[in-house]
Amino acid sequence: MAYIAFDMDETLGSLYTVYPFMCSLRGEDFFKDLNSPPKVQLSLDLRVIMDVTYMIFVSKLADLERSRMPLGILRPGILNVMRKIATLHKKGTVKGVVLYSNNGHLVLLELIRDIIHQAIGYNKLICDCVHWNHSIRFSERTKQPGSAPKTWDTLRRIFIEGNCNAEPSLMPSQVLFFDDQPHPDLMNALEQNYIFIKPYTYKVHITPIIEPYLEAMYVTNLWNNSEYQRYIQKYCCPELQPPITLQHYISSLRKDSRNTSPLSQVPPLPDDTIEQMKNAIDIFIHQLSKQKHVNLKEYLQMRKPNPIRIYKVSIKNKKEN
Ligand SMILES: [Mg+2]
Repeated sequence: MAYIAFDMDETLGSLYTVYPFMCSLRGEDFFKDLNSPPKVQLSLDLRVIMDVTYMIFVSKLADLERSRMPLGILRPGILNVMRKIATLHKKGTVKGVVLYSNNGHLVLLELIRDIIHQAIGYNKLICDCVHWNHSIRFSERTKQPGSAPKTWDTLRRIFIEGNCNAEPSLMPSQVLFFDDQPHPDLMNALEQNYIFIKPYTYKVHITPIIEPYLEAMYVTNLWNNSEYQRYIQKYCCPELQPPITLQHYISSLRKDSRNTSPLSQVPPLPDDTIEQMKNAIDIFIHQLSKQKHVNLKEYLQMRKPNPIRIYKVSIKNKKEN
């Protein structure tokens, strides 16, 4: 059984520019991971409309990412890697994929998962999103203040105790991991299955993200909901003087995402990291099948039946009987 894990930031993509949009689309979930989250309580009706708006936004981002002119939120070429893994997942060769990230905002891990699932048309691939504040990472958070380790013990537990339902006997040889940062404990455990890659540093400009965002807002007419306006004003842009128009809000989002790549710059073409990832997956699957073959051979040798004994019945004795 094969399992694959990915770091998120600068490995799968760059979420810096879309982060401020999440306050207006994810409501209570956006604040969950803050040290002292405000008590946001939204009506069920509003949450449903926000969820629908979020899914329309995701769908539009996914359409753009798989177009000829991708936005660059996703690392160029990463969808081909995901499609390859999805094929292996459908065959049962790969049992589960997780995101294991030091980013503190779960909503961002969920966003990149949702864009990938939508773009490849398969929503069973990524079974867990484990961010920095996930309860399973308690020992990593408290181990050494100031450090942000990723460890084999935690990754193993993510696969076994989480939605991937891996067997408790899970071994490092069954796990492939991609990260643009070195994490010594995990590197030691995974050895050649730890794929250390070049970071993806392009940061998409906010302008091309505003259009799909506005389209999603117009479809559900979310901005005209009075409860929503109160929420935005109180929690997402308290510095603005009411009444806040959608244009005011967009201007405040622009201020929140200033350090992006220039608008004139397009995302880079897929780099050799994509080939590196695909090759690593091929080698990993090949090694595992070889190992399985060897194990099966050893197992069969162990269980080799005793040589068949041929009992000769003497005709003479038979006659005597
Ligand atoms: Mg990273």
